Amino acid sequence: MSDKTARVVTYGCQQNENDSERIRGMLLEMGYILSDSADADVVIFNTCAVRDNAEKRVYGNIGALKAFKDKKPGMLIGICGCMAQQQHVAQHVKKRFPFVDFVFGTGALHRLPQILYSAEKQRVFDTEMKDGEIVENLPHNRQSTVTATVSVMYGCNNFCTYCVVPHVRGRERSREPGDILREVEGLAAQGCREVTLLGQNVNSYQGIGFPELLERVSKVDGIGRVRFISSHPKDISDALIGTMANNPKICNQLHLPFQAGSNRVLTDMNRRYTREQYLDIIGRVKGKMPDVALTSDIIVGFPTETEEDFAQTLDLVREVEFDMLFTFIYSKRKGTPAEKLPPALTEAQIKANFDRLVAVQNAISLKKNKALESTVQRVLVEGYSKSNESALTGRTEGAKIVNFIGDKSLIGEFAEVRITHAATWSLTGEIV
Ligand code: SAH
Ligand code: SF4
Repeated sequence: MSDKTARVVTYGCQQNENDSERIRGMLLEMGYILSDSADADVVIFNTCAVRDNAEKRVYGNIGALKAFKDKKPGMLIGICGCMAQQQHVAQHVKKRFPFVDFVFGTGALHRLPQILYSAEKQRVFDTEMKDGEIVENLPHNRQSTVTATVSVMYGCNNFCTYCVVPHVRGRERSREPGDILREVEGLAAQGCREVTLLGQNVNSYQGIGFPELLERVSKVDGIGRVRFISSHPKDISDALIGTMANNPKICNQLHLPFQAGSNRVLTDMNRRYTREQYLDIIGRVKGKMPDVALTSDIIVGFPTETEEDFAQTLDLVREVEFDMLFTFIYSKRKGTPAEKLPPALTEAQIKANFDRLVAVQNAISLKKNKALESTVQRVLVEGYSKSNESALTGRTEGAKIVNFIGDKSLIGEFAEVRITHAATWSLTGEIV
């Protein structure tokens, strides 16, 4: 099988990207050559179920593969990830996409070798949810040698009423600190300088607790920066804020999703904090780290959200002044409690609110980035700039992208860069 090619297409969050790195690692160990070609011998779609538009894209792209498979019948096509974990999706694929050879859920990742072997003979559907399992030591084909994501826990127990994640990723389970540290040590030995610890809600990391885990990861030789996502406001502690403020390797950057600015909507979402509690956390964070970079997730158009409720979201965004926002229009998810709620606003009203929110935030992002002009930032150089191959790109401690001219020997190193120009999404600078 030495000349067979395999292609992995990833949708969705950093956890999915991390899973895809492990899928590629397993494919390499099985002797496949990784490829981006549309008619690779094996094509795997690692899918996202958080919103409907991600699901639609997957169906469209799978449909487009049929023409390739007609020309090359030996091709194997598979779907995995969060969509595949939903029984109604697996059934739909079984019926409507007969040319899809294998479907496996989020808990079956490590069985890929057997799944592929069986799929040569007959269609495979491995989507049973087995809760509580953690499989260590899968091979990992990393996208970058400079930065890496490291899962510290899987699953979610929070059951926000709009969200499919607890249904497709199972209950929370934390990896052992020893396993996490071994992974980080291995990364550092290969030149990695920055790790982002991943979990749906890292603040409920069990055992030694998340602040202590952060401390231990930051002590690994060679690791210069530690970040983490996501935090749930209901679980954020003063211990965590103190650890972030006191440990120079833990970036003064916090992604703290608030989802909605109205207490009534927050209750309907089952978020278990109020607007006031959220603002109080932000106040404490800014009190300890005046230079902190803040980002958040917001849903616009949750079914019970009225114009007055939305006004409170806008108001909160203006008050906090986030560096950047991830804004989403509510998407109805099968099997979630919010699915049954009738919408208070029309689609047109929701879209108009979404556009207003984006406009308000873009102005804030630009203002905050402009404030960095003429300052010198410590940048971890990650590689060549996407838009300009002759420039380098990296990130500040606050995770802002900086493009600048420099020698390629700087890749993987920290550089002091003076910011010469700020735009809404990125910064331009020069080496000092
Ligand atoms: N565990 C993380 C979020 C994971 S999902 C957390 O709670 O912070 C990432 C984001 O997608 C969420 O924060 C939310 O803003 C958004 N999201 C989740 N379900 C959604 C839905 N049904 N419609 C629209 N956006 C959704
Ligand atoms: Fe979804 Fe809420 Fe869990 Fe985040 S905390 S993954 S939004 S259920």
